[in-house]
Amino acid sequence: MSISRRAERAFVEAAKLAWKSFQAVNTRLPEGKPFQPKWAPRPLLKSYERTRPPLGFPRETDSLCPTCVKEVRNAIIRGERDLQDLVTGHPGEIKAMLLEEDGKIIMRKTCEKHGTFEDVISIDPDFTRRIESLFPGRDFKTVGDELVHRHGSSNIKYGRGTVMTIDLTNRCNMMCNPCFMDANQVGYVHEPTLDDLKEILDRSISFKPRRQLALLFSGGEPTVAPTFLPIMRYATEIGYYANMAATNGIRFAQDPEFAFEAYDATLNTAYLQFDGVGNEANSHRHIGNLFDVKLQAIENLAKAGISITLVVTIVNGINN
Ligand code: SF4
Repeated sequence: MSISRRAERAFVEAAKLAWKSFQAVNTRLPEGKPFQPKWAPRPLLKSYERTRPPLGFPRETDSLCPTCVKEVRNAIIRGERDLQDLVTGHPGEIKAMLLEEDGKIIMRKTCEKHGTFEDVISIDPDFTRRIESLFPGRDFKTVGDELVHRHGSSNIKYGRGTVMTIDLTNRCNMMCNPCFMDANQVGYVHEPTLDDLKEILDRSISFKPRRQLALLFSGGEPTVAPTFLPIMRYATEIGYYANMAATNGIRFAQDPEFAFEAYDATLNTAYLQFDGVGNEANSHRHIGNLFDVKLQAIENLAKAGISITLVVTIVNGINN
């Protein structure tokens, strides 16, 4: 074992010991007046006050039949089903089992109409168990969100998601096939107005707990939407602390000035589509020099001070 690895081990063991000693004293002291930050609906929860869902394997969980989902969506688009069915009708909902089999965690579920589906959730069960063991317990129950969270079975009940994703447009300056958002492919443009978007942000910030207020602007390609810059400015004004954009990077590559404008409009992070190193690794997106474009985008974003997260999308049978 290398010296640095041994030093790291020793440091970890010392930290564990220090934590146990602190806890041994802390649990004997009388509890002081609990602290309530401004963003919280009530005083901070102690670890023993937090609840947990069942974890580990095997276990049953709630899931969806992927074929029912498509059927329901198409029926709504054709006007044969009411949108409200998604909230009250539980369409496509089925139970699933999470199982450990052959060194993997798999999800197996059966729809009475469409048969059995199986997906691999993890190829490293020990790592998955370790990640689950780190779950600190549920956050506060949300308060004041009755008009915001009306999603049927998938209602958020505790805390809030880490990141809220908002699609600014279904237009895109690329034509990938497959595109997981069907950008440019549905025969109409859907682009919320600036007022629509402000209303979404106002409502989302209206309830407690009011923390982890990060936004991911997506699409289609969010940078082609006229609302991209103004809505980020508005979000920062009213208290959101981070703006991210899920982008293919083309606009940033084409126009260095645009990267500076986005930075001024408070864009923190480009969540940059990046499927591999070299043009060959990106050829499934049908742009011959796409990797060169990515490099230019990275350079322009970095010069403007915007941080970058590279995002790989793997589609079975296309680029795996
Ligand atoms: S860049 Fe993204 S949104 Fe645009 S077509 Fe490709 S996958 Fe779809």
